[in-house]
Amino acid sequence: MFSLICLVAAPFEVRLSSDTLEQGEICYLFVETQEHGLLSLSYRGEPYPLIPLGDSFVAIIGTSYKTDPGRKPIRIKLSQGGSAKEVIDTAIQVVPTKFRKSVITLPASKKGTIDTTNERRKQEEYKTVVEVINAPSEEYYAILPEIFPCPKKISGTYGDERWTGGRKLWHHSGLDFAVPEGTPVLAPCPGRVVMARDTFIRQGSFVILDHGAGLKSLYYHMSARNVEDGDVVQTGDTLGFVGSTGLATGPHLHMSVYINGIAVDPLFWLEQKEPF
Ligand SMILES: [Zn+2]
Repeated sequence: MFSLICLVAAPFEVRLSSDTLEQGEICYLFVETQEHGLLSLSYRGEPYPLIPLGDSFVAIIGTSYKTDPGRKPIRIKLSQGGSAKEVIDTAIQVVPTKFRKSVITLPASKKGTIDTTNERRKQEEYKTVVEVINAPSEEYYAILPEIFPCPKKISGTYGDERWTGGRKLWHHSGLDFAVPEGTPVLAPCPGRVVMARDTFIRQGSFVILDHGAGLKSLYYHMSARNVEDGDVVQTGDTLGFVGSTGLATGPHLHMSVYINGIAVDPLFWLEQKEPF
């Protein structure tokens, strides 16, 4: 359940779905105003997208396992004629999450996905994917999911420390579903396909959806894809099929969710229902 935090200062009202988040959690911010002018939002001093939605404006703010615990400032500003007419300052408090340690065993055929033999190719692939993840959203489609992308059989949670051969690889940046090869992967809400490709290193055959407001969802390790770059998808459309391409120990779906380049907990997002 959400505790809705309201901040009222004429001429506008700001609501936060939560002001305390564990690392990886998300909060939704709503602004209502009758005034005309330029409304802007900054989070931790950086400009953040604020999307018109009916009579109000909405933003989705994320934290990750990399976000240091502590107070993170939010400022909402209404400007008219180039000068600030009204400013509201608020903040979210980030508290630590205790992440699990998980040991994985890679089959011999997948060793090249983590060793240094393909380093240059890995870096090039990584750079291209990160550019797409960080790119601003062009159009708004949705911020709330309507369905899970596949049956909810979770085998790996967000933030897990992944170890292999006594070596820590990374924190798991998403959510793993242990579903059989060939299971359809469905769009959880409307969006546009901004990348549908194959990479050798991590993702294998993957699809990235841009939902707008800086929100993107990613689907890795597919055996086949059903969409192409530029396609607009609706809730329940098939993006592709579960497989084990890329860095995968067996067939499963890896899903990641990014908010303005920050990898948040996909399960937290998937389980949101009407936070406002
Ligand atoms: Zn995964």
